[in-house]
Amino acid sequence: QNCSPTQRAWIEINETALRQNVKAIKQSLSPQTSLMAVVKADAYGHGAVNVAQTVLEAGGEALAVATLQEGIELRQAQIQAPILILGAIHTVEEIQALVKWNLEPTLCSLQQASVFGETLQTLQTSLPVHLKLDTGMSRLGVLWKDVVPFVRCVQKFPQLEIKSIYSHLATADEKNDTFMEVQRERFESAIAQLNSIGFTPPCFHLANSAATLRDPNCHYDLVRVGLALYGLSPSPHLASVSPLQPVLEVKARITQIKELPAGAGVSYGHQFITEKPTPIAVIGIGYADGVPRNLSNHLEVLLHGKKVPQIGAITMDQLMLDISNCEQVQPGDIVTLIGKQGEHTITANDWAQKLGTISWEILCSFKHRLPRIFT
Ligand code: PLP
Repeated sequence: QNCSPTQRAWIEINETALRQNVKAIKQSLSPQTSLMAVVKADAYGHGAVNVAQTVLEAGGEALAVATLQEGIELRQAQIQAPILILGAIHTVEEIQALVKWNLEPTLCSLQQASVFGETLQTLQTSLPVHLKLDTGMSRLGVLWKDVVPFVRCVQKFPQLEIKSIYSHLATADEKNDTFMEVQRERFESAIAQLNSIGFTPPCFHLANSAATLRDPNCHYDLVRVGLALYGLSPSPHLASVSPLQPVLEVKARITQIKELPAGAGVSYGHQFITEKPTPIAVIGIGYADGVPRNLSNHLEVLLHGKKVPQIGAITMDQLMLDISNCEQVQPGDIVTLIGKQGEHTITANDWAQKLGTISWEILCSFKHRLPRIFT
């Protein structure tokens, strides 16, 4: 173990798995397609600076984050690669910061493009920009049909260097690919409209992880990959497409062991009552670390290579395990909440399924109280 023996709970980031995921994804792309690593939300909870460095060393070409602040954090860590800000930026102060930190914004409306152009004129500088089209996600972007007026508006300002035109898919992880194909056709129609006015931007991009894994027609010049980098499949039917390995493991230590009598209520509200004398272990991790309280009495963890049930309500900093099936458990023993022990693996997706949510949300909910340890 690389962690301090006193650490109560932590997240291990397997750098080798991350590198291998980058390589596996790159191998599925043609040499003309670049890999942009989506490292927003602290690299989906994995630690943005370390992940960005590792991905770039392993062959990733560019980075994407959601906010200006996330981009600045990467630049402050001396990361030099191009960084696209996926979210909307509007104010003059933000534009000044983009220039200062060499960050590349998304333009998503004509009005915003004009604010950018005028501000950069005043600042007497230019900026690479990425134009966002809405092809059916109904989130940021100009409707694909209006691509020509959008580009014309941006072209009025020589300070705005169009570096790419992109869109985002709404249903790429669903089994039925009908709407993904509709979005791809709309994107193609936007490209055709631009061709008809003789404008060819250097780069088009559309694919997230799911589209990258399932459809080379969506790859274009660049793919924007988040979840797959972290070794999780965007949906079960894509699990076998690429040999991805989960990058993150969540671990905690046993802090106390005791034998409860039959009929003992466990944790707040006594949602669990022992039926027989039961050995339990307390571990030092709880909902303030990002273990959802709604998993109470449904969570399983790995201890000594076996699956062990969690019992009673998950509390802010601690939770309890029924260790009847394990022998010779000691305080200090390591419990794996997400990760692999022996024959068993528990993934963020297993938690997501129990909670009726998605693995993206699980990964993003781990708090900074858990140190990220690169192994
Ligand atoms: N592109 C955009 C615009 C996104 O918002 C995201 C993530 O939500 C991604 C790409 C990456 O998605 P995924 O994690 O499914 O690869």
